[in-house]
Amino acid sequence: MLKAKETVLEIDLKALKHNFEYLKSKLQKDTKILAVVKAFAYGSDANIVADFLQNLNVDYFAVAYVNEGVALREAGIKTPILVLHPQAVNFKTLIERCLEPSLYSSKIFNDFIAIATEEGQTNYPVHIKFNTGLNRLGFRENDIDFITSKLRDTSAIKVKSLFSHLAASEDLNEAEFTKNQIDNFKKTAATFTKSIAYKPMLHMTNTSGIINFPEAHFDMVRAGIGLYGYANSHEENKKLKPVATLKSIISQIHKIKKGETVGYNRAYISRGLEKTATIPIGHADGISRQYGNEKGFVVINNQKAPIIGNVCMDMIMVNITNIDCKEGDEVVVFGNHPNSASDFSKSVQTISYEIITSISQRIKRVIIK
Ligand SMILES: *Cc1c(COP(=O)(O)O)cnc(C)c1O
Repeated sequence: MLKAKETVLEIDLKALKHNFEYLKSKLQKDTKILAVVKAFAYGSDANIVADFLQNLNVDYFAVAYVNEGVALREAGIKTPILVLHPQAVNFKTLIERCLEPSLYSSKIFNDFIAIATEEGQTNYPVHIKFNTGLNRLGFRENDIDFITSKLRDTSAIKVKSLFSHLAASEDLNEAEFTKNQIDNFKKTAATFTKSIAYKPMLHMTNTSGIINFPEAHFDMVRAGIGLYGYANSHEENKKLKPVATLKSIISQIHKIKKGETVGYNRAYISRGLEKTATIPIGHADGISRQYGNEKGFVVINNQKAPIIGNVCMDMIMVNITNIDCKEGDEVVVFGNHPNSASDFSKSVQTISYEIITSISQRIKRVIIK
């Protein structure tokens, strides 16, 4: 890998391929795989990631919002795209771009049928979401009669899949709850399918569900975080490869005496003769203020340099007193274990999902093929 000369987020497509193949190896031969590429493909680069996965014959994509799906279509992505959380105001655009909505409530279901009818659609593919315990989005089992009777009255839409989402697939202490969700979903899907004349696909599992609950793979799985190199257990993390590495450089080194202070509000007070390095990345780049005051650290020449004082908008200062380094040297904020995004985020009690999706768009993405 090239040495960084400015702050960059490296996106390693070989790691992405490895993770895709690893997750696929957990599936039955005919189980489809949907790649979740919402939030700029978990903070990486949605167009590049989607294009790469399309070439690996991924079956489906999912995004959260319509504008994310529009961006993928603009980039030439032809694979079906499920929009997990669309709003009615964007339904015309959604149809124009051949995006497929998740319909999760009576209101959104009726709104979509009205607009699809107005737009002269027949058999427009939609996905019906059931709430089986997460209590976030979704119909309940007792909505089935309402949905299926509306379906019999319209030819504007056709149900391509029924799906649900697990609440605690990463937590084996909650396995009983999860098994209950799976059973409820099976029952709901069976009742639903009986009352329409065709068989929609079923899907339920995210990354942790793929790993922990093979009995819930059904026709398709939805892989997000795993594709980007993180599972929710140490054991599985070891089998995946982080796709994103956040790198920067040392802009300036300062030698400070005991009692001198560093940064805004003089939050760090030197304990002796010390050396600090200023790094061009701050809270506007996604490194939240929580990482300051020696909670988080970066790695310089394989050594840990704690972030000292308050995180600024465009900079952090780190303690390099015992590190042999010079201005211009490379800094790794997160990458591989032991300073993966998961390790880094743990230092402030959050999770890999949050740090990787927080890296601001002003940081250049560098694609490694
Ligand atoms: C984000 C999301 C996923 C992906 O979850 P991971 O834990 O990242 O694999 C799957 N399904 C739904 C409904 C989601 O919102």
